[in-house]
Amino acid sequence: MTARRQPPARRLPAPGPQLRPLVSTGTVSCPACSRRYVVERYAAAFNVCAGCGHHGAVPARQRITQLADHGSLELMRIEVGDRDPLRFDDGAPYPQRLARARERTGLSEAFLVARASIGQAPVLLACMDFGFLGGSLGSAAGEIFAQACEAAAVERRALVAVCTSGGARMQEGIASLAQMARCSAGVAAVGQARLPYLSVLGDPCFGGVTASFAAQADVILAEPGARIGFAGGRVIEQATHDRLPEGFQRAEFLLAHGMVDAVVARRHLPRTLATLLHMYMPA
Ligand SMILES: [Zn+2]
Repeated sequence: MTARRQPPARRLPAPGPQLRPLVSTGTVSCPACSRRYVVERYAAAFNVCAGCGHHGAVPARQRITQLADHGSLELMRIEVGDRDPLRFDDGAPYPQRLARARERTGLSEAFLVARASIGQAPVLLACMDFGFLGGSLGSAAGEIFAQACEAAAVERRALVAVCTSGGARMQEGIASLAQMARCSAGVAAVGQARLPYLSVLGDPCFGGVTASFAAQADVILAEPGARIGFAGGRVIEQATHDRLPEGFQRAEFLLAHGMVDAVVARRHLPRTLATLLHMYMPA
């Protein structure tokens, strides 16, 4: 009796970088040049690639700590109920999508609002989080921003908003478009109180957000390379049957054409905002 030959053991491929899940090794890749970073090191560099200068996405929680003076942050809780006026379902019911976004981001909505100081000037910081349903502006997000504006006026604080959004929240239809007016009224309240409003446009910033409060600030700053516009380039080309200039929705193009006031690297934002606040804040 001859022993049956065992089949050769299946050789597993040697673990290479492509086999390592990003989460377990704590690394991230630059979306522009694929250079890899340890998460902590990337965060310490404000999520900006040292190789190519690409400004990566920043969650709202990280953003407010980047901008506020150390130890000055006080998160504001603005409770607003959910609305599902269309009973929207695009494969998953809207309430379920909201629940998942909350679980993923730890935020209640696409806005995170805090009292803080920047360069010792009292501010109300309102930061959008693109990770929360594309930073879309729904009824609750709009109401949070509007109430933050009203609080800024009452408490004599400057308003600083960081805007990164795909635009109005399609799941709420017209109710979401109405937030453009609600947010604009909030911005007007800050202006009537003779307080400055500074906005920072991150990548990307589109739709009803660009068409309302993001572009209504006294000074509009943008981050390098940020895509900013109303409709996307392909939609405009299809509607106008025209070829659009290269990079026409980038921050640098908009600066050259007077749509934004300055393009500021992320690491310089706290200092730039502080300078502007000292210039604009009433004595
Ligand atoms: Zn890079």
